[in-house]
Amino acid sequence: MRRREFIKTSALLGAGATVTPTLMLGGCAAEPLPGAGSVTSTPTICDMCFWKCAGHVYQEDGELWKITGNDDDLHSGGRLCTRGTGGPGAYLDPDRLQNPLMRVTVDGRQTFEEVSWEEALDFIAEKMRGIAETVGPERMLMLHHGAGTNHFLHLLRAYGSDSHAAPSFAQCRGPRDVGFRLTFGEGVGSPERTDMANSRCIVLLGSHIGENLHNGQVQALAEAINRNATLITVDPRFSVPAGKSQYWLPIKPGTDLALLLAWMNVLIEEDLYDKDYVERHTIGFEQLAAHVRPYTPEWVYLETGIRPDVIRETAREMASAAPATVVHPGRHATWYGDDTQRSRAIAILNALLGTWCREGGFYIPESVSLPEYPLPDYPERQYSTSDAYPGQWPFANQGVTNGVIDASIGDDAFFKGWIVYGTNLPQTVPAVEKKLEAAANSLDLLVVVETMPSEMTGYADVILPECTYLERYDDLRNSGERHPSLALRMPAFEPRYNSKPGWWIVRELGLRLGLDEYFPWADYSEKLDWQLRQVGSSLEEMQRIGVKNFERTRPLYFREGQGVAFRTPSRKIELYSQQLAEQGFDPMPVYTPPDPVPQGYYRLNYGRMPAHTFGKTTNNPLLFELSPENQLWVNPLVAGEHKLESGDYVRLAGTNGVISNRIRVRVTQRIGPDSVFMAHGFGHKSKRLRLTAGVGADDSELMDNVKVDPIMGGTGMRANFVTFVREQR
Ligand code: SF4
Repeated sequence: MRRREFIKTSALLGAGATVTPTLMLGGCAAEPLPGAGSVTSTPTICDMCFWKCAGHVYQEDGELWKITGNDDDLHSGGRLCTRGTGGPGAYLDPDRLQNPLMRVTVDGRQTFEEVSWEEALDFIAEKMRGIAETVGPERMLMLHHGAGTNHFLHLLRAYGSDSHAAPSFAQCRGPRDVGFRLTFGEGVGSPERTDMANSRCIVLLGSHIGENLHNGQVQALAEAINRNATLITVDPRFSVPAGKSQYWLPIKPGTDLALLLAWMNVLIEEDLYDKDYVERHTIGFEQLAAHVRPYTPEWVYLETGIRPDVIRETAREMASAAPATVVHPGRHATWYGDDTQRSRAIAILNALLGTWCREGGFYIPESVSLPEYPLPDYPERQYSTSDAYPGQWPFANQGVTNGVIDASIGDDAFFKGWIVYGTNLPQTVPAVEKKLEAAANSLDLLVVVETMPSEMTGYADVILPECTYLERYDDLRNSGERHPSLALRMPAFEPRYNSKPGWWIVRELGLRLGLDEYFPWADYSEKLDWQLRQVGSSLEEMQRIGVKNFERTRPLYFREGQGVAFRTPSRKIELYSQQLAEQGFDPMPVYTPPDPVPQGYYRLNYGRMPAHTFGKTTNNPLLFELSPENQLWVNPLVAGEHKLESGDYVRLAGTNGVISNRIRVRVTQRIGPDSVFMAHGFGHKSKRLRLTAGVGADDSELMDNVKVDPIMGGTGMRANFVTFVREQR
């Protein structure tokens, strides 16, 4: 028998049938009118996605009523998006994990059994002690996503390991951050430091703002559109922003880098670039000019399908608005494996336009100077995360998820234990299920900390139910952005069921591991209060106001005429990258055509939908009601060929032979005939997600042609192809 079987978490030993409670939201069902009773409010930071908008949780007569934005929050403009207002659904979801669970074998079959917190934590602490004593603490790895990450990283560092990786790097924004860092010496951050609210021209390349509801960013784009800023959208699909654009460039998939090089060609050949900025702040212009000379609009037209006159006209638009132009860096940047180079091309184009740290381009972010709570130094570490994959991906400045998973397979694997916090790896890392099974069979310990019974919980030895963001303290929000501010998340309710806050879980584990000196607080609020008092506030004040805004101490943009030292080796913006050249990579971006579409197949394009954050929210009863399933966009020509109509269901077959769940067809001109499109995050297999299990298709499992970026390890996922398997109408 395998050491760890994947357990479909439908069968839990000792777990009684759960009665689905009705969602009694005061705002929906109350009589008399909502708000007529005794109303109280508690500040929060939304955790329905990573954007961290501040809000207020309202209770009426002690019952959850609604969540709204905090008017003082400049980060969110005082508003929450659809998902944010759906936060009550996360709290009230009857499918939430309720008790700690441990893997047991009964009658030869593996299942999960409810255990006490003491039992679960004692087991984990003993295993962690064993790993530290036998192979060293660095062999304990954390895979993570979300607001509570810092609690678990603190535990891990106190224990002696800094081994960690997040899919948000190698499966999402990593190439962008590395590409910008190589060029400007720093990344674009989160939230992105784009100054769209002041831009006169915005260029989006495959960036679906408005489909991904990153709140402040959507508002900034809407403001720019209201001011008649020129919007140029490059996308094979007629996306939501394409519909708002003056220019929609329906590019042949995978050829964006060629277009970026052609735009540089036009700016240089027509003398439209910002000469003063380039002269004062960059190195490598002569090499760049020679490099982009062959990428004429006429040549690039053959690759991209974008007419030469449109390429020239859009380049002139960007130049005429510069420096108030943003060529947006995007967020999900792992496409074709040359993603760091494509992101470098976006960065270089911005440099030619002189937009970096200029009004209407990119601003200089600032956070509050918030002291850390005084604690002993962490122990010295012998290994870092990248020692698990030596010599690979030299510019990865964070752990590479796919690299650490590979390094967890086999008896001599580097990693021996995992804590997986808040990330559902089967739907996040492409084509990973077999590797997860192999890793789970190799590891001595696999802990999953979650609020919901995601697919990842099926691989665990121990599942720890964290309470939702409405029931806990987390760290203060202190992001680098236009307006420095602090925001508080605090419990509006006691944790439901037998769930616990992340800070409590790590403290209990820390005490069991003899790490008491790293956890001197009995309650996390003590730590927050200490920090707030260092900047002239207090927990009491923040519990009243939720958000505190601070004055900037630095200018928002470069001061014209002043010298600037960039954080690159040359102290300049590096159009030509000596760093890349020294590691054997192209010092300037080189275009490579994408793989052709195999006969009978279509490119698998995927993205977001406004009501959901990946698969994290698809079981949320309120958001499920809004958007219960994903749809497959199919061009009418393709639909005709396959005799498909809108509303039909199909399954998709990947080139790896995997057949998807069924998905509803939407016949639309908004996608070209070489591709199909679906929103990511559906097709859940965990049967304990009772609303969403089996609904819609999962794009991740159809991917077997993953193009790994040799510079930073990102998994390019846009080079995958599917064909139809017809379902009964
Ligand atoms: Fe919440 Fe929406 Fe803000 Fe994300 S963007 S934190 S889901 S309100």
